[in-house]
Amino acid sequence: MGEQGFLCTGISKKFGGLGGDFLYSVIVIEELSQISEAGLAAPLHSDIIVPYINTYATEAQKQKYLPGCVSGDIITAVAMTEPDAGSDLASMTTTAVIEGDEIVLNGSKTFISNGIHSDLIIVAARDPLVENPHQAISLYLVESETPGFQKGRQLNKMGLKSQDTSELFFNNCRIPKTNQLGEKGSGFIMLMEKLQQERLVCAVMGIAAAEKILKSTMTLIQGKNTAGTFHIKSQVVQFALVEMATEVKIGRTFINKLIADHMEGQNVVIETSMAKYWTTDLARKTAETSLNLLGETGTLEKCPVVKDFRDVRVMSIFAGTNEIMKGIIAKCMGL
Ligand SMILES: Cc1cc2nc3c(=O)[nH]c(=O)nc-3n(C[C@H](O)[C@H](O)[C@H](O)COP(=O)(O)OP(=O)(O)OC[C@H]3O[C@@H](n4cnc5c(N)ncnc54)[C@H](O)[C@@H]3O)c2cc1C
Repeated sequence: MGEQGFLCTGISKKFGGLGGDFLYSVIVIEELSQISEAGLAAPLHSDIIVPYINTYATEAQKQKYLPGCVSGDIITAVAMTEPDAGSDLASMTTTAVIEGDEIVLNGSKTFISNGIHSDLIIVAARDPLVENPHQAISLYLVESETPGFQKGRQLNKMGLKSQDTSELFFNNCRIPKTNQLGEKGSGFIMLMEKLQQERLVCAVMGIAAAEKILKSTMTLIQGKNTAGTFHIKSQVVQFALVEMATEVKIGRTFINKLIADHMEGQNVVIETSMAKYWTTDLARKTAETSLNLLGETGTLEKCPVVKDFRDVRVMSIFAGTNEIMKGIIAKCMGL
């Protein structure tokens, strides 16, 4: 993907990128969805993690890391989640302590996408001396060869099998002070600032998956018309497909508007939270309905929707669960 120019399309030409706008990213995300390609978690690398480096890194950090991120020689991961800190990131316990010119990291992370393949990890860790979690957390750049850093198990997920998700351990892992990303104590602020694009990327993935599932279902159903197999002439089947197509169209219209608003620099945090939960739920619902319509065909591993069914299941969990999205929206509605 790096060789073909499909990674980090938004990074400036100065660092080897295309200098493209967010629409380039959307095209890559959608094309990957069309072929059910989930390996490498490319949208996470290109459009969620690397933008942190692009926005908050020093010039020296950018020069060191961005060209590799664009070429694919550096695969990135972002490590926030811990065994006892999922939705509630404020309760993370991984510590970062300054010792002379170094920062010493201790703790563990889990469910980290690209964890096994990663060469560079953005790690969220807290200063144990600062009580307020919103001021205690900072972001650090950890290279995978750093002594004290260890990759753990690759987790055996129900879906996204070609994408690694793993544990990471930090045991007196010493990084140079210059590997702090952004201001000390501003980890939460940086995470918040990047949420809009993160959720929009997930929403694009959600609607693209729903579109792909609808297309596959139509092909499978129209491709077989022997009596007793798929009853395409049955009103029940037709109406189910019509409802799927209508919801997918509504979702696509909403997403296209959000993409345009995001590209214009508008604040659409609430709308992207709505879109993240709604489109990923839609993808799940579409997959479920599809398998039901496909009957016994939908129980076979060779049926393409079976893979999609498993892959879309986890979308409502990562990047902030769908319940967390609803909580944010409720707060913004003054509830
Ligand atoms: C495939 C995959 C990839 C991932 N990749 C990464 C990654 O690259 N980096 C990373 O840091 N993390 C990653 N994660 C972790 C992911 O961000 C967490 O799983 C997520 O934040 C939820 O945390 P949890 O699983 O501990 O669930 P919990 O927070 O324990 O939540 C369990 C349930 O309770 C609900 N819940 C929790 N709090 C509230 C609340 N306040 N209000 C209402 N409902 C609530 C949740 O919605 C959920 O249904 C990944 C997870 C998966 C599955």
